[in-house]
Amino acid sequence: MRTPLLFLALATILTTSASFAQDKPLKARPDAFAPEEQTIESKAVAMASTVDEMSQWDRYPTYQTYLDMMKGFADEFPNLCHIDTIGTSVQGRLILCARIQHHDSYQNPHPEFFYSSTMHGDEVTGYVMMLRLIDTLLHGYGSNQQYTDLINTVDIYINPLSNPDGTYRGGNSTVRYAQRYNANYVDLNRNYPDPFGTAPLNSQQQENTAMIDYVSNHHFRLSANLHGGSEVMNYPWDSFTSAENPHPDSEWWQAVCKRFVDTSRTYNNSIFRDVNTAGYIAGGDWYVIPNGRQDYMNYYHNCREMTMEISSNKTVDSGQLPGYWQSLQHALVNYIAEIHNLPSSTEAVETPRMNASLRCFPNPTRDRLFLSEESASDIFIFNTMGKCVLHLPKGTRTIDLHTLPHGIYMVRCGSHATKVVKQ
Ligand SMILES: [Zn+2]
Repeated sequence: MRTPLLFLALATILTTSASFAQDKPLKARPDAFAPEEQTIESKAVAMASTVDEMSQWDRYPTYQTYLDMMKGFADEFPNLCHIDTIGTSVQGRLILCARIQHHDSYQNPHPEFFYSSTMHGDEVTGYVMMLRLIDTLLHGYGSNQQYTDLINTVDIYINPLSNPDGTYRGGNSTVRYAQRYNANYVDLNRNYPDPFGTAPLNSQQQENTAMIDYVSNHHFRLSANLHGGSEVMNYPWDSFTSAENPHPDSEWWQAVCKRFVDTSRTYNNSIFRDVNTAGYIAGGDWYVIPNGRQDYMNYYHNCREMTMEISSNKTVDSGQLPGYWQSLQHALVNYIAEIHNLPSSTEAVETPRMNASLRCFPNPTRDRLFLSEESASDIFIFNTMGKCVLHLPKGTRTIDLHTLPHGIYMVRCGSHATKVVKQ
C-alpha cells in the first residue's frame, strides 16, 4: 500500500510525465506499431543455402542452413557447445539455444547469461549477429583471452531465433516475407505475464510457453533481447514510465547502456541515434508496452534483461550485416561480462506487484465506464499498442469511451490498473 502523501506525489509526477509523453518528438517505438513500411521488393536479401555460403556473414541463412550451423557448432566444439531445444513453434520449427560453457562448469556452475533475438520475426539483424557471436566466441576460445575468460567464467546461452515461423513466413528458403507475428498472428512481445499480473490479450502462445519453461529451469542473472526497427538501448521498465516507477537499478542500467553505446560508437559514430543522443532510454519513457518479455524477465525471474534495438531497419539489406557486426561485436561481448558487475540490490524482485483491482463497470461497455470511487490520481487509458488514448484528471468518476474504436484497453490510475473491453 502506498501512503496518501506518496500517492499525491505520484499523481503530480504522473501528470508531468503524461504531458511529456504526449509532446515528445521521439521517433515512435517500432514495438508500438505493427506496420512494416519497408516494401518487400526493396529488400536486398541474399540467402545462404549452405553453411559455406555464410562464410562472409553477408547473407541470411535458410532455415535448413540455420539448423546446420547450430548443429555444426556443437559438432566442432563438443567440449564447449551444446544445442538445447527450447521448444517448437506453432508450425513445428525448432527454437534452439546454443549453450556455451567450459565442461568444467558441470561441476562448478557459473552465473548464467542469456541472449535471445528475433521474437519479432522480421527483425532479423540480431538473428545473424547472434549466430556470428556464437561462432566468434567458440573459435576464439584458447586464442582470444577475453573470449576464453568469458567462457571459463560464464555459462552463455544464445537463442538466435525466437520466432522462426515469423521469420520464415515465406517458406524456409527466404526471410524476404518475414513478419513480426508468429503463425497465429500474435505479437509474442505482448504475450508474457506482466507486473500488473494481468493476462495478455491473446492466450499464451506456445513459443512463449516454451521460453517460460526454459527460463524457469535456469537461473539467468543477466540477459538481453534483440530487436530492430530503431537503434536504441531500452532498459526496464516497459510497463511504467520512469517517473511512475523507476527500476531500482536505473543508475546501473544507464551506466551499462552508456558503455555499450560508447563502445559501438568507437566503431561507428552514427549508431544509436534514432531516439536521442544518449542512445539509451528507459522503455516506458519511450513507450509504455504491456505484457512484454523484458519486464517479465525482470519482474518474475529477477533477471536483469534489457531490450537492444540494434538496427534502424527491421530487415536490413544482407550486405549491411557485416557493418552491423563491426559496430556491435565488442559491445555484445562486453555486455556478457557485465554479469560480473551486477548490482547487489535484490529490489527488482521486491518491487510491489501492481494492484490490478481498479474497479470499473460495466465491463465490457459500449460507451461509459463508471469507477467505484473517485480516482485518487489522473487516469490514463492505453490501447493494446501501448499508446495513451485518453487522459482524465484526478477525481474522475465516469469515463466516456464512445470515441474509441472497439477493442481492449488498459485503464490505469496510480498503482491500480485493469483491462476493459469496449464493445
Ligand atoms: Zn521488436
